[in-house]
Amino acid sequence: FLCAFAPNRFPTHRPAMAADISKIRNIGIIAHIDAGKTTVTERMLYLSGAKHRVGRVDHGTTDTDDDPEEQERGITIFSACVKYAWGDYNVNLLDTPGHVDFTAEVERCLRVLDGAVVVFSAREGVEAQSETVWRQADRYEVPRIVFINKMDREGASFETVFNDIGPRLGGRPVAVELPVGEGPAHVDNPFRGVIDLVDMKLLQFDPETEGKQVTETDLPDELADDAAIWREQMLEAVYEISEDAMSLAMEDKEVPRDVILAALRKGCLDRTIQPVFCGSALHGIGVQPLMTGVGNFLPSPLDRPAVEGHDPKKPDKTLSRNPDPKEPFCGLVFKILPAKTGDNYWIRIYSGELKQNSRVQCPNRDKKENVAQIWQIHATKKDRDGQVDSVGAGDICCVIGPRFAITGDTVCDTKELIELPSIKFAETVLSMA
Ligand code: GDP
Repeated sequence: FLCAFAPNRFPTHRPAMAADISKIRNIGIIAHIDAGKTTVTERMLYLSGAKHRVGRVDHGTTDTDDDPEEQERGITIFSACVKYAWGDYNVNLLDTPGHVDFTAEVERCLRVLDGAVVVFSAREGVEAQSETVWRQADRYEVPRIVFINKMDREGASFETVFNDIGPRLGGRPVAVELPVGEGPAHVDNPFRGVIDLVDMKLLQFDPETEGKQVTETDLPDELADDAAIWREQMLEAVYEISEDAMSLAMEDKEVPRDVILAALRKGCLDRTIQPVFCGSALHGIGVQPLMTGVGNFLPSPLDRPAVEGHDPKKPDKTLSRNPDPKEPFCGLVFKILPAKTGDNYWIRIYSGELKQNSRVQCPNRDKKENVAQIWQIHATKKDRDGQVDSVGAGDICCVIGPRFAITGDTVCDTKELIELPSIKFAETVLSMA
């Protein structure tokens, strides 16, 4: 019997071919600078088995901070996309920049991801830029889960951050976890684990294994009362979302965990709630449950609405594409990185299939583009030799060969043309001012 957020016991080292679209998660981690976005990313890659050491931001050794300028400034400027596997899920993790100057970069990521993890610092709480990124995610209707990080810091307060999310961000946080203790080792009641409120289990993370080893036990009496109160709050949200859960509660019956999880997932996808997790990314506490939460609660490409665009030849004619490999190919170029061996075109595929050695249309430039090589980029440098023959709907890949498209352009089937709305940088940046 698996605990709701129990670690995946058998993580595969390499993501399998992403054939099952329902198991793809295209996610970004968004946060105020310094909340711990890069540290959370590093920890996820490490725990998934994709990396064998934990990079430290402070040492300039992270995988997502690849650019020398990034390392020098200690902040993430560019959003690269790394892939990892967790249980059945193939996750494309887009690293979004956390610095306010790069808001346009955050916007372009939000366009192509399906769900987000919002990281807050338990010490600093909801900060000015958390509001900016939260509003951006609202604008792009991105479902999200919350990670309250740095629970090990002096002055950390889970409740303060939790209680701020409603009034300051207009969110509806629902705690699915509770911290055990708060603050560093020398305080009276230091942070040392998390309570899973769905299964009412205590999860403890072994520091010797950087959080890989997790022990799951029944709740000790001294934690049970507080946990029961928070669980009741979680169930209130579940009753609002799920009629099944409500009728069971009316009959005084226990609501099964799959009903609870399904209701929380529905609420998250509808953006009426945001499930809240907590931990310390630095010490590897609470990150495995968060990763399981990404699979449990955040949408797959199938859960997102069809993309809409227009016929480039008849601008009045709207067209839509579903995340179906049988539909004509269409995708969006969301990032171009210069490279000696041919520029890297990062593409989110919305429909159809992209095949190596094929040609696609770029309607924005009225040009045909070559798809010479397709790469799926994995978390480790070693794994990066991930050249593939084709990539299907819902996935993200890197293509070498195109020459004309610019960021925000559509690429599509050469016969079944569609032009998706472009990414409007200037407008969004101005409206933020
Ligand atoms: P980003 O700017 O959001 O990417 O944040 P970073 O991941 O670069 O983290 C900012 C600083 O906070 C770094 O010095 C991290 O080592 C530190 N940090 C991140 N997570 C934690 C945590 O859980 N606990 C503590 N004590 N420090 C953390």
